[in-house]
Parts: sequence; structure tokens; C-alpha cells
Amino acid sequence: MSSDRFDLAVFDLAIVGAGLNGSLLALAAGKAGLRTALIDRVPLKSLTAAGFDGRTTAIAYTSQRLFAALDVWGDVAGDAEPIRDIRISDAGYDGQASPLFLHFDHREATPVGQDHAPMGWIVENRFLRAALLQRLAACPEVELVSPDEVVDTTRDLDRAQLTLRSGRRLTARLVASAEGRFGAMREEAGIGARSWSYDQIAIVLVAHHERPHRGVAQEKFLPGGPFAILPMGDGPQGEHRSSIVWTERAGTARRLLELDPPRFQAEFARRFGDHLGPVEPVGPRWSHPLGLVHADRYIDTRLVLVGDAAHGIHPIAGQGYNLGVRDIAALVEVLVDAKRLGLDIGAADTLERYAQWRRADNFAMVAATDLLNRLFSNDIGPLRLARGVGLAAVNRVPPLRRFFVRHAMGLVGDLPRLIRGERP
Ligand SMILES: Cc1cc2nc3c(=O)[nH]c(=O)nc-3n(C[C@H](O)[C@H](O)[C@H](O)COP(=O)(O)OP(=O)(O)OC[C@H]3O[C@@H](n4cnc5c(N)ncnc54)[C@H](O)[C@@H]3O)c2cc1C
Repeated sequence: MSSDRFDLAVFDLAIVGAGLNGSLLALAAGKAGLRTALIDRVPLKSLTAAGFDGRTTAIAYTSQRLFAALDVWGDVAGDAEPIRDIRISDAGYDGQASPLFLHFDHREATPVGQDHAPMGWIVENRFLRAALLQRLAACPEVELVSPDEVVDTTRDLDRAQLTLRSGRRLTARLVASAEGRFGAMREEAGIGARSWSYDQIAIVLVAHHERPHRGVAQEKFLPGGPFAILPMGDGPQGEHRSSIVWTERAGTARRLLELDPPRFQAEFARRFGDHLGPVEPVGPRWSHPLGLVHADRYIDTRLVLVGDAAHGIHPIAGQGYNLGVRDIAALVEVLVDAKRLGLDIGAADTLERYAQWRRADNFAMVAATDLLNRLFSNDIGPLRLARGVGLAAVNRVPPLRRFFVRHAMGLVGDLPRLIRGERP
């Protein structure tokens, strides 16, 4: 789909990549009055097809406030399952959870006098994508440019120019790379990154189980990696459902993915455990190789990196997209503030404000997820003992538990207006 709504292809912002981050940025920017182009090489409709992305995303409490402020939440609320509690435990090769565990209760983070809010919600990615694209199609400030691809970019002190595969040329004050972790613009701009593979693959699927999950998200740390059981709404026949992110060493995961259904079921059920009664994987098995990438800088001349293009992290804490949501809230706020003052939204000092705002929060999450994965994805005896004792110790200290819950909800730090649920 390509539109000719704009005769002069001159934009405030050209966003490359219409994944969950690029499309959210386009909507937030467009609603704030910035003329925005959103470009993706993939036809946008295909992003919402059931076969495109079988994942769910844990939307943190504060990310939900941003979705609500942009009027998107109403479109996904009916398909969003609240996370009321989180239970974390260590487990061995047999899948048996250790008796030492850590339990977070959403009520602990609620300020006195306020209603208890969930820590977050589990939403299928296809519903998030569909809601964003529907709102984008109705946003007059945004032009959707797809399928098309950036083949050449020139950026100077005055403007950025993008040449697309179709031959079209766009001019913008600022380019945002939301190209995901394998984006080309970062490298083309000479921005280095810390990056490595975890030699792990996340197997993603949906499971049916006999008993309801009661809004509890579970994370079991198995020797190959974390095994997450994330609450979903009941299926059409009332089946109790959970979304599974099952991490294994890459070689083991490849072998598991090739197993026939009965043997796969047996391996799966052993790790899942019997706390929700008999369990069965249903539908396709998806796989995602896991790695880390963190850009050394988030900005260059008239270029800004957002979402996984700036920081792709391990899904161990379900926070990768939530970091991107906070990038977007901060970026739109600095751009809107600059525009209101009549300043150039692509000027170096405007972009520097964004980079400074986001660096510490992103760095802390990159480091924490990397450390957690290294600490828990093994079966080294003394480490296992220390982990179990550590989990149980945190479990006994309410202020520490509250600290972690508030972090998971995104309630710490200098929050941009959109994250507080306000218009930018
Ligand atoms: C198994 C798993 C579970 C996860 N669970 C959670 C969770 O529960 N909570 C959470 O917060 N996060 C989670 N995440 C992380 C989250 O999924 C990612 O952070 C997020 O999807 C990244 O989106 P993105 O838009 O930055 O990148 P992408 O989804 O990679 O999108 C990039 C887009 O850019 C396009 N593109 C790239 N280059 C070009 C170009 N040159 N021209 C045109 N188009 C281009 C691509 O076609 C693509 O559509 C999970 C990740 C995994 C792997």
C-alpha cells in the first residue's frame, strides 16, 4: 500500500520499520501533530496475520497508560489478560520447582488509597499490531509507505533524504530507525554496539490446561534457560490458556522443535509441571534465537535509534518492548517541546536530550537481564543453592519486593508525560 496523500514528500519525521516500536512511534508523533512517514519493506497487512508472529507481550502498567493516552488501549483491552501476581522459582532438569521461591503480588505496589492495578497485561502481538495499524490508517498526519524499503540515506545539518526501492524520495527533519536488532542504519551511521548471542532459542507456543491460572505469571529457571507461563484469556470453548516462552540451549531447542507431537508433549509437560492439572501444547511452535545488542550511541546527525534498533535484550523479564515504549514517550516529548518553541526537531541538542533521558534506564535493564540469564541458566550446584536462598530472602523483605514490583510496572525514574498517561 502506498498513498499519495502528501504531494510534497517533506516530513518532520521519517520512521524506518513498522514493527511494534515503529508503528507506536508513528502514532504518538502523528497524534502530536508531527508530519510522519512510516516505512516498512513488509506489506503492513501481513504483520497482523495469525501466521506472522505467535508471541504475546507483557505490557507493563505504565506502557498501558501510554496506550490508553493514545486511544489504542480500548481496541486491545478485551484481549488483554491482567497479570496479578508473578511467581519465580528455580528448577532442575526434572522441571521440579525448588521450594524456595519469590512471589510478587500486585497489591503491594499500589499507593495507599488507590485501587489495586495489575502489574501488567498479556496481549497477543497480532492484536497489538492490528490496533496500532487501524489507528494509524485514521491518523491524517501519518503516511504509511509499504511495501517499500530504504536503499539510500543522506543526512546533513539541514535535513535527511531517503531514497526508497520504489524510486521515491522523502525528505525529513529527522529519521528514526525502528528497524529492529538487525537494522542497517545504525551500522551505516558508524554507531558501534555491544552484541552477542546467548546460544539460546526461545520456543513460543500456546498451552491449554485444566485449571485456571488466576492471573499468575510463572517463571521457572531451568538449566537451559527460563520457562515462562504467561496468563492468557480463555479460548473460544472456555479452554484455560497460557502463552509459553520456553528457553533452551540452541542445540536442544532445535532437537525439541523437530520432535513428533507425543514426544514434544512429554518434554513440555515435564517442564510445565502439574500445578494447573493436565497440560497440552496447541497450535504452531515458534522459535526465536536470542541475543543482546546495545548501541553505543542512540543518535547521530538527524538520526535517532528507538526500540530494538537501540537495545535488543533477552526476554527473561518481558521488558524489551516496554523499554521501547519508554523510548517513544521520551522522544515524542522532546520533539513536541522543540516544535512548540519553534526549534528544529532534528537539531543535535534536541536529540541529545532524548539520548540522555533514555540511556540509564535502558542500560540498567540490558545489564540486569544479561546478569539474570547468566546467573540462572545453568545447573551449577553452589549457584543453584545461592539462587534459591536469594529468591527466598527477597521474598521475606516486603520493601525489596515492592521495589521489584514497581520496576516491573515501569513506575521508577523520570517518567515522560505519555507514560504518566497524559498527552505529550
Ligand atoms: C520470545 C520473545 C518474547 C518477548 N516477550 C516480550 C514481553 O513479554 N514484553 C516485552 O516488553 N518485550 C518482549 N519481547 C521483546 C519485543 O518483542 C521486542 O522488543 C519488539 O518486538 C521489537 O520491536 P521493534 O519494532 O523494535 O523491531 P522489529 O519487530 O524487529 O521490527 C522491525 C521492522 O523494521 C522493518 N525494517 C527493517 N529494516 C528496514 C528497512 N531498511 N526498510 C524498511 N523496513 C525495514 C522490518 O520489516 C520490521 O517490520 C519479546 C521478544 C522475544 C524474542
